[in-house]
Amino acid sequence: MIGQEKNKHKLNTFSKNLILWHKENGRHDLPWQINISPYKVWISEVMLQQTQVKTVLPYYKEFIQKYPNIKSLSNSNLDDILESWSGLGYYRRAQNIYKSSQILKSKYKYEFPKLYDDILELPGIGRSTAGAILALAYNKKYPILDGNVKRVIKRYFAVTGEKNNEKNLWNISESLLPSNNNNVYTQSIMDLGSLICTKNIPLCKKCPVSINCDAFRLNLTHSIPEKKQKLKHKKLKLYLLLIQDYKEKNLILMKKNPKDGIWSNLWNLPSFNNIAEYKKFLEKNNMLGKVFNYYHIDHKLTHLKLDINVLKIVLSKKIDQGDYYWKNIYDKIGSAKPVIMTIKKLKEELD
Ligand code: SF4
Repeated sequence: MIGQEKNKHKLNTFSKNLILWHKENGRHDLPWQINISPYKVWISEVMLQQTQVKTVLPYYKEFIQKYPNIKSLSNSNLDDILESWSGLGYYRRAQNIYKSSQILKSKYKYEFPKLYDDILELPGIGRSTAGAILALAYNKKYPILDGNVKRVIKRYFAVTGEKNNEKNLWNISESLLPSNNNNVYTQSIMDLGSLICTKNIPLCKKCPVSINCDAFRLNLTHSIPEKKQKLKHKKLKLYLLLIQDYKEKNLILMKKNPKDGIWSNLWNLPSFNNIAEYKKFLEKNNMLGKVFNYYHIDHKLTHLKLDINVLKIVLSKKIDQGDYYWKNIYDKIGSAKPVIMTIKKLKEELD
């Protein structure tokens, strides 16, 4: 076969082979694939951004049970949605889901839009998520380019150097789309990336498209995708104070974080960057009691490495709580993972 024809053949066989492979080997029983709807695909796709399927599964199931449709979600509030998102991380996603739900209510009367531009206008939905919703839920011909798909494309075409840019990858993703069965094809390429063409050691011998894969042929699967320069995480020390009421041990002092900064809008323990700050806080509020080193947590955020020391303070008398609230540890509230872990530890002690 000569150049152009060879390339055409390579593009055509890709989707055909993938769809055939998917019948037997793909995932067919993920909860968002059952009675599929744009709403379910939207929620699952947002949850799956930067998060693995196995982590998402319990959160997704609980979320859909609580909010089975757009109406129930739109009539909820941000606090409740954040509570369901507690521990999943990247909380901006939950805030965008809430904002989108209000648009779906006011502008679309609880219906999910069908047009690409309308979907793209919803907060937190980028080009790839919009493409996935249109392909998976409406069987429309739109490309996606999430992390798994990028990796497959880069290896299949040995994309490196200058060609390794978003514009080129989107063009390739679009050129691979079959004329029909885009729903099955999209799920197939996602599954290939997550089950076979995996990050560290791809299972090329089991791969349905290995025959035309350049990285496989050239023995370059270890060096493609090219390694990105590792993002340097800034280190930040945090002191979280677990302050227990002097009488009722289930009550701890908490405050909602402002809408800017880390863990925005989530319930947090009194939080300080250094010892002098938290000591000043305790003194100022006349919070007398023993201070214990309770827990140490290393926690990574997108750009930050948090070194968290949790200190437990059992008050010896009633205090003026100022702008903090007494929260029962059994209350359902939206909090970040380190706070959830701390409360869980306290519950285990008190149980
Ligand atoms: S042959 Fe290997 S590297 Fe190429 S697409 Fe398949 S799993 Fe990925």
